[in-house]
Amino acid sequence: MIPAYQDILSVNGVDGFKTGDLVVRTPIDGTVLARLSAQTPAQVMSAVKKSQSAFLSWRVIPAPVRGELIRLWGEELRQEKENLGKLITLECGKILSEGRGEVQEMIDICDFAVGLSRQLYGLTIASERPGHHMRETWQPLGTVGVITAFNFPAAVWAWNTALAIICGNPVIWKPSEKTPLTALSCARIFDRAIKRFRENGHAVPDHLSQVIIGGADAGQVLVDHPNVPLISATGSTRMGRIVGECVARRLGKSLLELGGNNAMVVTPTADLDMAVRAILFGAVGTAGQRCTTLRRLIVHRSIKTKLISALKKAYRSIRVGSPLNPQTLVGPLIDAGSYKNMQGALKKATQSGGKILSGGDPVIVKGCEKGAYVRPALVDMPHQADIVCHETFAPILYILTYDTLDQAIEIQNDVPQGLSSCIFTRDIREAEFFLSSAGSDCGIANVNIGPSGAEIGGAFGGEKDTGGGRESGSDSWKAYMRRQTQTVNYSSALPLAQGVVFDL
Ligand code: NAD
Repeated sequence: MIPAYQDILSVNGVDGFKTGDLVVRTPIDGTVLARLSAQTPAQVMSAVKKSQSAFLSWRVIPAPVRGELIRLWGEELRQEKENLGKLITLECGKILSEGRGEVQEMIDICDFAVGLSRQLYGLTIASERPGHHMRETWQPLGTVGVITAFNFPAAVWAWNTALAIICGNPVIWKPSEKTPLTALSCARIFDRAIKRFRENGHAVPDHLSQVIIGGADAGQVLVDHPNVPLISATGSTRMGRIVGECVARRLGKSLLELGGNNAMVVTPTADLDMAVRAILFGAVGTAGQRCTTLRRLIVHRSIKTKLISALKKAYRSIRVGSPLNPQTLVGPLIDAGSYKNMQGALKKATQSGGKILSGGDPVIVKGCEKGAYVRPALVDMPHQADIVCHETFAPILYILTYDTLDQAIEIQNDVPQGLSSCIFTRDIREAEFFLSSAGSDCGIANVNIGPSGAEIGGAFGGEKDTGGGRESGSDSWKAYMRRQTQTVNYSSALPLAQGVVFDL
């Protein structure tokens, strides 16, 4: 193995995994980083049992004390930002700056959750009965099963875990089978926070946060388990349909964060320089492998030629290469299968009348010949064909043309997914209409900002085939708690609601 890879693994405490059927390769050049054993169904069941026992003692710890554990976790993450960021780059192929950014997102959610641990507010409600108090409170829920995708191998777990833990719940994490090393390293960092929390005199149960290594089979055991009241699953819509159905069958709760097909409307008054920069990060950042990646550009006919010419110029200067090289803007796709999907989508697009304006071709990176590197593609489409309505997890930007804003919004909304959307305009009427009830139907709608790169303070998620879940900021924490309406009678009478009389 290349010494630099070995260094990254050892500094993150995940070297030395050499036996097992689960082979972990870096997308950078296909080098095998580890061989791990997947957990058996019996081991997953046992993890759930341990988690239930952790729940019994964690749920009675005051929430602000639970927040103290998350504060320590945030401190540990600050120290590990550089190391963990590099491991993320090595295992999933995003560029270094995005690897570091992912750890920063984990730190941000820790800060958010610490504050939140003193603000799990309920309500007081006026009772219609004299001498009665009514209130609504939020109680811990139980084990939270977290299933994550390869493209955010650490942050999505942190979004869920920081909130679940302050809400009084243990977590079992089933990371993507493509990125288990990041998960194991994250678990190590979390354990350090637990150790310090104990040293500071706080009680904390064992197995508060566990990791299950394996593929869909291991995840399915969690999904079907009646003692996992909430499954938070991030990944493809295909996976979400299966998971959502299974959890619903047992009347559990699910929080689904699935595929996107995000668009930008560019109007005649848009600041085109700003738009081009936003398009570039949105469409080619993370090699087009973000759920919020910009996939559809809906451009007013009057500025189309100008915008396309600026984009072609910008696309020519994109540096594709090893994500460990600080000069690189676009790293590899996760694997050869992803490259094949991209080529298949481009073929379908041209069969539907699309014209590839640039990119789509493979890039041979010296020393990384086994990596799936590709030049991001720009495709001019005569209409929103079937393939455009489908999320291809690769850097393809389809360009569509509109004449009226109503038409643009109709195109924007006319796909099965509903994650992120945006408009570039300097016309306040257009901006406000886009944000109105007759505008974008997505969970995220931006003005003069691209569709990707959300902050943790807002609730994150989308509608329709994106699954409807919300996690991270705002009041997303409520998904991790059980709502309870409480009524207290402090009088000496027993009046019934609605004036019902029921006396002997
Ligand atoms: P994927 O659906 O192939 O896998 C995601 C996770 O689900 C993995 O851990 C996998 O093992 C697990 N899984 C698959 N089938 C399962 C089953 N039947 N039961 C339990 N677990 C199962 O997705 P991927 O290729 O890793 O990630 C890319 C996809 O994730 C894209 O569609 C992207 O848009 C989406 N994504 C969405 C968000 C969001 O917040 N909306 C964030 C990141 C990624």
